[in-house]
Amino acid sequence: MAGTIRVTLPDGKSHEVPRGTTPLELARRLDPKLAARALVAKRNGELWDLTRPLEESTALAFLTADDPEAMFVFRHSSAHLLAAAVLELYPDVKLGVGPPTDTGFFYEFLRAEPFTPEDLEKIERKMAELRDRDLPYERRMVPSDEGLKFYERQHQDFKCELVREKSDGPEFSVYVTGKFVDFCRGPHVPSTGRIKAFKLLAISGAYWKGIEGNPQMQRIYGTSFPTREELDAFLHQLEEARRRDHRKLGRELDLFSIQEEAGAGLIFWHPKGALMRTVMEDWLRGEYLARGYQLVFTPHVLRRNLWKTSGHLDYYQQNMFPPMEDEHVAYQLKPMNCPGHILIYQSHRRSYRELPVRLAELGTVYRYERGGVLHGLLRVRGFTVDDAHIFCAPNQVEDEVRGCTDFALAALRTFGFDRFEIELSVRDPARPQDYAGKSEDWDQAEGALLSTLEKMGLPYKRMIGEAVFYGPKIDVKLIDAIGRPWQLSTIQFDFNLPERFELTYVAEDGALHRPVMVHRALWGSVERFFGILIEHYAGAFPFWLAPVQVAVLPVSEKVTEYAQAVAEKLRGVSTGTALGGLRVWLDDRNEKLQAKIRDAQLEKIPYMLVCGQKEREAGTVSVRSRAEGDLGAEPLDAFIRRCQELLRTRAPKP
Ligand SMILES: [Zn+2]
Ligand SMILES: [Zn+2]
Repeated sequence: MAGTIRVTLPDGKSHEVPRGTTPLELARRLDPKLAARALVAKRNGELWDLTRPLEESTALAFLTADDPEAMFVFRHSSAHLLAAAVLELYPDVKLGVGPPTDTGFFYEFLRAEPFTPEDLEKIERKMAELRDRDLPYERRMVPSDEGLKFYERQHQDFKCELVREKSDGPEFSVYVTGKFVDFCRGPHVPSTGRIKAFKLLAISGAYWKGIEGNPQMQRIYGTSFPTREELDAFLHQLEEARRRDHRKLGRELDLFSIQEEAGAGLIFWHPKGALMRTVMEDWLRGEYLARGYQLVFTPHVLRRNLWKTSGHLDYYQQNMFPPMEDEHVAYQLKPMNCPGHILIYQSHRRSYRELPVRLAELGTVYRYERGGVLHGLLRVRGFTVDDAHIFCAPNQVEDEVRGCTDFALAALRTFGFDRFEIELSVRDPARPQDYAGKSEDWDQAEGALLSTLEKMGLPYKRMIGEAVFYGPKIDVKLIDAIGRPWQLSTIQFDFNLPERFELTYVAEDGALHRPVMVHRALWGSVERFFGILIEHYAGAFPFWLAPVQVAVLPVSEKVTEYAQAVAEKLRGVSTGTALGGLRVWLDDRNEKLQAKIRDAQLEKIPYMLVCGQKEREAGTVSVRSRAEGDLGAEPLDAFIRRCQELLRTRAPKP
């Protein structure tokens, strides 16, 4: 039929519509609710404005806010709304670019005066006004020379620069929203009314195109959501994240510091932080031994040649510190522990009877990171990996992967995390040339990873083409107390290093075979894991981890002796660790009880024991819990049993 086209939706149904019908018109006809929720369409796999006419028969899908691609379009449109509002209020600004980000958007402007927080409020109000006017995002094609002249007349120098660089055809698309005309490929949401909820969050400076010496742009950052509720939830999370910031809590609780005079990205563990780290590491070392790993230590600097053999000089050099030279030999601070463990494996001929060899080390590594990306404990230059390398025979692979996965979940659950996302990264079967190793080895490794996850009943996402060139892997992300995901554990096959180092073992047939190598780290970096723990618990650590577990608070000098006796008894309690008894702070300062309670609360100490005359006479303590408040008087022995139970179970609360 002339004048009509056929549009096929994801459910397989086709609809005959007049040529030039827009996706929005079709959606309204099919399901007005969908039309209201849809943000953008996808036409033959390409994002497409809901208001852009369809001229040919096509496959078509409607994308809503649960689709990350649609949210990118939504945030890109939000950036346009911001630019349109700024142009209304400050017609002389010069426009830079305004892309979406993972959690929002920004737009950058050149303007002599700095934007102030009051300006942001004004801009937000103007955005709301433009939203309420429900202005369309109108797509127009303009001849290239005319478009350029338009921007020249407006003195939009940066837009002119972008047009000259990027437009290559006789015409290009612009999107018009109110006074704002953007040289932009789109697509966009149909109109400003869709951007129901938004908030401007910050202003920062950035060089045009990120190049030093270029003009200083002012970036206005914001976020936006299709509903008020989602925006409120996000802002709440942001506020919680600020409250839990490990850099702030690390200072307040005196856990760690970074000293500029010593160097950026290098961590000083203060006594309380170091104690917690020791508790964490002791748990881990105990698990290593219980799970058949052998503990090793390897040097922090190794000859540079070794990093040539390993390939790091070829593909990892940008993350390595410059070499140290003596007269004859160059040394390299290690960015990874693998070559060290390989040298131990190679120190004698291995028989199949020894396999699997599981070498574990809390191995400190140094990686060069640009100063701008360093961030507290989360992004540093020196850190300790809870690293292990497993060398095994091919038929042992599946057991090893299961052991590693089980260990990974135990290492996270013990520290109070119970929500995970698991990703299985495999080859792109269409690009075999991109991967090291034999195809049948890959089949076996991928099969082992897959069947482990299936047998353990763990939900996972299969990421095709996400494997690194040297092997497939399982990654475990945890979800913290405020819903943020953190990538931690990795179980990674390696078909590359065994080849490069020519690793062998004597198999049952008497011949030399190549072992399979698995890299695995469960916390990833001890520093980063500690940072995540601080934020997850907002500094209120579980009893077994807390640097001070009990504060003993005498109400007056008359009971100091009793309080001392209580503290001594607690310090002598057997905790089943090498670290001695319970960790106790006796607050015998000459302060009012209220002040002592307040300070112990600020230190986030799990229990406070108030000792007065009454308690002394009865041989009891009045227990205050950080989490539950006043628990009343308790015989000291009963309180000790309570503590021992918390240690035994490593309870995440209190
Ligand atoms: Zn744009
Ligand atoms: Zn490794």
